[in-house]
Amino acid sequence: PKYSKEDVMRIAVEQDVMFIRLQFTDIFGVLKNVAITVNELDKALNNEIMFDGSSIEGFVRIEESDMYLRPDPSSFAIFPWRPNEGKVARLICDVYNPDGTPFQGCPRNVLKKALDEAAQMGYGMSVGPECEFFLFLTDAEGKPTTVTHDNAGYFDLAPVDLGEDARRDMCLTLQQMGFEIEASHHEVAPGQHEIDFKYDDALSTADKVMTFKMVVRTIAKRHGLHATFMPKPVFGINGSGMHTNQSLSKEGKNAFDDPSGPLGLSQEAYYYIGGLMKHAKAMAAITNPTVNSYKRLVPGYEAPVYIAWSPKNRSPLIRVPAKRGAATRVELRNPDPTANPYLALAVMLKAGLDGIKNKIQPPASVDENIFHMNDGARVERGIDSLPGSLDEALKEMDKDPLIRETLGEHIYTKYVEAKMLEWDEYRTKISQWEIDRYISQF
Ligand code: GLN
Ligand code: MG
Ligand code: MG
Ligand code: MG
Repeated sequence: PKYSKEDVMRIAVEQDVMFIRLQFTDIFGVLKNVAITVNELDKALNNEIMFDGSSIEGFVRIEESDMYLRPDPSSFAIFPWRPNEGKVARLICDVYNPDGTPFQGCPRNVLKKALDEAAQMGYGMSVGPECEFFLFLTDAEGKPTTVTHDNAGYFDLAPVDLGEDARRDMCLTLQQMGFEIEASHHEVAPGQHEIDFKYDDALSTADKVMTFKMVVRTIAKRHGLHATFMPKPVFGINGSGMHTNQSLSKEGKNAFDDPSGPLGLSQEAYYYIGGLMKHAKAMAAITNPTVNSYKRLVPGYEAPVYIAWSPKNRSPLIRVPAKRGAATRVELRNPDPTANPYLALAVMLKAGLDGIKNKIQPPASVDENIFHMNDGARVERGIDSLPGSLDEALKEMDKDPLIRETLGEHIYTKYVEAKMLEWDEYRTKISQWEIDRYISQF
């Protein structure tokens, strides 16, 4: 449902809502919130709520810290897991400067800007993400472990599968919050799950990804489990991705669908793929934003490593699922759920649009398993690889003006600064692997 201000005021009273969380996302994809009471809802909906932005990482300096929140009334949702009396609801907000201009450090504003540019070309963007996650047991102190409930139950005769129960509860809760759940299943690895919700316009989907992660974590906790979206929590088994199915619409129709085109795809679909491939390396700094992200992007675990596309097999970066008509779409397979969904969708859209504007024809599809090709065969076919580390990805992003421009000066600078520190901290720490490998040997 898309609510107006008046709807929100009315429902808040009808439903006995007591507290409203004003939510926004920082540049690293972390959900933040300020709680207000229902008495201040009117003020909030008139964009009069101010907060101190200086304590939000990557936001602003102390001297210019007053920021305003502009709630999007259509995002109003009640938290179904909170008490029935004095309910808690939330509103997703954009961050604005005191002078009334959109704040450059607000990722939601970045996506809106990219969507405006698409709209000027006549396009809308639809996105359906597939978020994977692990459910782990917690230790005696409540701290997350990397032990899965599946393993724990393995030797039991009639194990109560905590994971399946938690997943069902997550789906029900999401439905109560307006999600249309399309599928939910156990994933390949022990303790790994996936819940898919119906595609929506890009901005709503980015909002939903943030809500999704909050709900999954909250409900897991109520089942005594820890949910993590960390891309590769356990060596030797699959990691967690966030496959991103995307399409453009024009004049109410799917712009990627063309029954008369090769494989039933339009020229725009091909150019969009060309654009995604051209910018894939630079985008990785956003779609795969953590040190750990790159431990997932290795051969052998259904995650992409090579920059190629295919209508058939799942080893390349981009797959075009078989459905046509309104469901025609391109699936980008490298993003993982640690990505800031607003920034990730903004860079994907801009990369695709670049393909269309500059008629970037993608290379021929690669329909055999790339992981079975040797280096020579790959080089011969001009198949390039994704960055192998966060450091490499940041260097690629630095060389890509389109991606930098999409993020804007403010976010680009703060993001790179923080991510370089993250990389450097990792690079200089001594890992258990090094101790195991060298301490006795030398
Ligand atoms: N978990 C795999 C990944 O890392 C995907 C598995 C699948 O959905 N087929 O992308
Ligand atoms: Mg899936
Ligand atoms: Mg999956
Ligand atoms: Mg998929």
